[in-house]
Amino acid sequence: MRKLFISLALLCLTLFVSAQEAKYVFYFIGDGMGPNQVLGTEMYLAEKAGKIGYSPLFFTKFPVAGMARTYSKSNGITDSAAAGTALAAGVKTNNSAVGVDAAKKPVMSIAKTLQSKGRAIAICTSVSIDHATPACFYANVPNRKSYYKIGSQLPESGFDFFAGAGFQSPIDKNNPNKPSLYSKAETAGYTIARGWADFNEKKATAKKMILVQEKDGLKNRDFKAASSIPYEIDRDNDDLTLAQITKAAIEFTPKENGFFMMIEGGMIDWGCHNNDALAAFHEVIEMDEAIKIAYQFYQEHPDSTLIVITADHETGGLSLGRDGDYTLNLKAIDAQQKSGYEFNKMVRSRYKKSIKEPEEGKKKPAPYVWEDVKQDLTDYFGFYTATELTDDENNALMNCWYKLSGNEKKIVSTSFGEEYDFGVVATKILDKRGQIAWTTRGHTAANVPVYAIGVGAEKFNGWQDNTEIPMKILELATPKARPEIKEEKPEPVVIFEQ
Ligand SMILES: [Zn+2]
Repeated sequence: MRKLFISLALLCLTLFVSAQEAKYVFYFIGDGMGPNQVLGTEMYLAEKAGKIGYSPLFFTKFPVAGMARTYSKSNGITDSAAAGTALAAGVKTNNSAVGVDAAKKPVMSIAKTLQSKGRAIAICTSVSIDHATPACFYANVPNRKSYYKIGSQLPESGFDFFAGAGFQSPIDKNNPNKPSLYSKAETAGYTIARGWADFNEKKATAKKMILVQEKDGLKNRDFKAASSIPYEIDRDNDDLTLAQITKAAIEFTPKENGFFMMIEGGMIDWGCHNNDALAAFHEVIEMDEAIKIAYQFYQEHPDSTLIVITADHETGGLSLGRDGDYTLNLKAIDAQQKSGYEFNKMVRSRYKKSIKEPEEGKKKPAPYVWEDVKQDLTDYFGFYTATELTDDENNALMNCWYKLSGNEKKIVSTSFGEEYDFGVVATKILDKRGQIAWTTRGHTAANVPVYAIGVGAEKFNGWQDNTEIPMKILELATPKARPEIKEEKPEPVVIFEQ
């Protein structure tokens, strides 16, 4: 009788738990997305619309919100590799380690575990697909910089779909005669789709796919490093978006046995490393758009879908407020039309073109002088017109020009120190107007938010360690009592045996 009771109890548990199975899992990771990256974006959107307060992003309206600690095994401040390993495999490891523990032993990512249970797997990012965060889901290497090694492990995973900018190191620098990672992947049965149009052409016939940004490399594209899709703020119409990547992943990935998708907003981190608030906020909005696509899928499968959103760490020590004034003014940064990174690149390349010796018989290139730089600063940052500059700020920008044009003797001392990057100085000026501050160009130990909706979402409530997140996902995706779901109904339970 006791046996009967136990087996009936187990059966009931099986039925109960099976009803909660997260057959479809979306796992969004905003790289560098601390609490202020999220709130700052919402407050910026509100101020832009003339409101004080916040305009909510889509994902912050999800019913469950929690917090996660992010420290790594080797330091209170994690890097993306250790945090990626924690979020992929539930194991604390040393900074730089991708999918291996502190003793350098490979650990199993939940993507691999779920693959072994028959789930289809998609790993997506807006940076290169061999970058630390996505790599932690399919590769095991002690050093995140071993890009070729990481990329070589990608086809070995046998995962169904990958997407991102491309490979950071498609050829082995120590042995350039080895096949490129693109041809290795093709040999292993992957179809390479280059851009959205190419994806649509190939999706019907491809068995497994790697979707990459179309523009990278052109002629030598199989050998050229592709580090990221352009920042959302700099993007052209034919650049891939994270929403397109998410759409493609859903469309392409087989659904019969369920799927697990990791989708990384990889460039929030890059914007914050550059202390470029507007570029970072645009990347948060970019990830929000991708989450909306996942939510559409959730609406069609509400009883079997789980969406979890978190971050690997905070980047930049972003502060909404500075100098003791209660005067947050985020609409000031809205004047910016280009990331600081691209702006600096643009000015440098315009200058270099202007001093290039013309080929024989060709006209001399048009000059590019300080007045032209000023015009670019007006066009892309609103300086000298909408925003008046102090002498100190103007001098700091002129210093960048003197440095670039070889007039270093003219450089004067400013509060910006020895900073000669046009983009960095310009965004620092806007930070002052917007009352934003940064404490570092690296990561911080700040906690990160966790949001969830769908099957078992309530498990992500409250404080948790980052290593708990994948374990909770795994438990929800493969409830322990699986797979026997018997048809017959349980008999009435007799508790006491006389
Ligand atoms: Zn980072």
